[in-house]
Amino acid sequence: MEIAYIALGTNIEPREAYLTGALEKITEHEEIKMNNISSIYETDPVGYTDQADFLNMIIEVETTLSPMDLLAYCQGIENRLGRERDIRFGPRTIDLDILLYGEETVSTDELTVPHPRMHERAFVLVPLAELAPSYSIPKVGERVEDLLEKLPEADKKGVRDWSAEDERNDT
Ligand code: ATP
Ligand code: CA
Ligand code: CA
Repeated sequence: MEIAYIALGTNIEPREAYLTGALEKITEHEEIKMNNISSIYETDPVGYTDQADFLNMIIEVETTLSPMDLLAYCQGIENRLGRERDIRFGPRTIDLDILLYGEETVSTDELTVPHPRMHERAFVLVPLAELAPSYSIPKVGERVEDLLEKLPEADKKGVRDWSAEDERNDT
């Protein structure tokens, strides 16, 4: 049994339904148990910026699947939710990235764990800091909250609590 963290991202409507759909499918697997769920954040696109804002969140799971089997299951969910791959970093119905798998490191053509770009991404570190602030990232050797602290303010401004926004809209 290992603890793993998975990042979810979507920027094609209905975004919330894609998140919910992915969560359901992850929970359906008998070898994956959901431990914890972050808030949902609305985030400015990073890298390829000419696209709609994302919703991002992180989940903590407990699994007996190997890292590679967990990736394969996540990619199956992406396909079932209509993910198309044309523009790299472009719009997507759902993106599931394995951030961390216990203390393990994986480095193959298909899978790199810890996710190689997670430590520089506010849209990953902000929700991850909710669930695992003092988790020390293997290879990087730094804690989530310290990495977050070091990110430029402009990056952090691009990550907004979306559940809070939702409540404002309702009242
Ligand atoms: P990024 O990886 O920078 O977030 P992306 O999520 O848009 O970009 P994708 O097109 O979804 O990239 O994935 C490209 C490939 O990355 C996948 O086919 C998968 O084999 C590989 N990959 C490597 N490491 C991981 C990981 N930790 N989690 C998910 N996919 C990974
Ligand atoms: Ca990604
Ligand atoms: Ca991905």
